[in-house]
Amino acid sequence: MEIPIFTPVRQYMNLKEEIDSAIQKVLSKGNFILGDEVKEFEDKVAQYLGVKHAIGVASGTDALQIALMAIGLKPGEEVITTPFTFVATAETIVLLGGKPVYVDIDEKTYNINPDLIEEKITEKTKAIIPVHLYGQPAEMDKILDIAKRYNLYVIEDSAQALGSEYKGKKVCTFGDIACISFFPTKNLGAFGDAGMIVTDDDELAEKIRMIRVHGSKVRYNHEILGLNSRLDTLQASVLLVKLKYLDSWNAKRIEIAKKYNDAFKDLDDVVIPYSEAYNKHIYHQYTIRTKRRDELAKFLREKGIQTAVHYPIPLHLQKAFSHLGYKQGDFPISEQYSNEVLSLPMFPELKDEEIDYVVESVKEFFKR
Ligand SMILES: *Cc1c(COP(=O)(O)O)cnc(C)c1O
Repeated sequence: MEIPIFTPVRQYMNLKEEIDSAIQKVLSKGNFILGDEVKEFEDKVAQYLGVKHAIGVASGTDALQIALMAIGLKPGEEVITTPFTFVATAETIVLLGGKPVYVDIDEKTYNINPDLIEEKITEKTKAIIPVHLYGQPAEMDKILDIAKRYNLYVIEDSAQALGSEYKGKKVCTFGDIACISFFPTKNLGAFGDAGMIVTDDDELAEKIRMIRVHGSKVRYNHEILGLNSRLDTLQASVLLVKLKYLDSWNAKRIEIAKKYNDAFKDLDDVVIPYSEAYNKHIYHQYTIRTKRRDELAKFLREKGIQTAVHYPIPLHLQKAFSHLGYKQGDFPISEQYSNEVLSLPMFPELKDEEIDYVVESVKEFFKR
């Protein structure tokens, strides 16, 4: 049986009529840049999260960069974040001349360890970017408490966690700003690149709206430097259709994760995902840990099961950041886990027989 780790095709086939007609509508109107559907989708996301402003941008990466521009990150200033994340989280800091100051992850949740943040704060620290990795909310109470005491901005990297909840409240609603990605593989995926920034702060929202159109409120009147980074109307029309199903898809992810957890919890040398009881973890990725990671991946590949490693190299050891002077051994948990994590097929359209096949195959490997 061939099982992809993810495919957008089944979701499209299930919603084909609805999506095709939404796209046709945009094509016939021709309102490709900041059309009505963008505003409508922004309003729906704001409503879904219970935030004041939702601003559509071109990608999750741009969302992070624009957020950092909006808070006025200046060259030489520091941003505290995790090294165990997708590159965009730190790349955007460095592109603006800032310095990512990493804090190792919590052994259980794989999210930034809040107890190690305070010792990294200097007079140059401007912000903290927690990442809700794999869909599991970061420890927001502790992070917000530190940010408040040191007067730091908090930008949530919610690229993997739309619909996740921390202590009964949706992520994206804790920081000064939150950044969302609708990259096709995310739990709310567009048909191309797309992203969003949300905030309750009117001033930040105004600045963000300006930055996405070259720093202008009035056309050809540029008050600040900006980017060209809008959410396409076509993508918004697709996302508007899909948003209605997000909660049911997240519920399905949780159900599949439960099946995997029940099947794998007693296997030696497998650590199943841990979720705090007060968190709603939506399993954007279902990621286990094992010392025999590469062997298991190979075994599953031969059985037709696709897997992935999120992420094989922690950011402090990436060549692109070598000028920052970090070295092997600086963040031991992240380094260890980057050799042990393996993500299994996870998307709401997985069929029962496919889930069973993944379960049986993983079990078979560990019996050998
Ligand atoms: C996907 C992702 C991003 C970037 O989003 P894009 O839409 O691909 O630019 C940023 N941070 C994290 C944690 C991500 O998973």
